[in-house]
Amino acid sequence: MKRAITNFHLDRYQEWVADLECGHEVTMRHNPPYQNCSWVGSAKGRQEHIGDLQECVSCDMPELPDDLKLTETSPVYQKGAIPEQFGSGYTTEDGVWAKIVVKKGLLQFLILSDPSIGFVLDEHLCGVVKPGVKHEIKPAMGDVEFYVEFYQVI
Ligand SMILES: [Zn+2]
Repeated sequence: MKRAITNFHLDRYQEWVADLECGHEVTMRHNPPYQNCSWVGSAKGRQEHIGDLQECVSCDMPELPDDLKLTETSPVYQKGAIPEQFGSGYTTEDGVWAKIVVKKGLLQFLILSDPSIGFVLDEHLCGVVKPGVKHEIKPAMGDVEFYVEFYQVI
């Protein structure tokens, strides 16, 4: 979903982050050809891009309902030691929601709904799995560390 940029701030890695009207944040990495935003390094460039529409993936992510209780937390998984089932159309048990929390690095998260939606998860963006919906998680590039929280209706 496209959202307007309202402001910018630096995160703790000294990367520029756009604040969006929906309250979500997007890291503006100058990473051609995927993301071209060399302007983000200058105050003038940032000023000129206030009000721009930016794709907000957080707005496309399902939201965990409020009435859920954390029932289980997985160990921390690292690249090379990710359970195989995560890589191929994995579903949670009946009535179980899952939240995928990335501690370090980037993780590809695919919700195999109709149509399928893909995300790149990082420390700012958690993956949310609805009960009965197939999904896949795979490491993107570099090292990754993540864990999974499981939730159920109380
Ligand atoms: Zn948003």
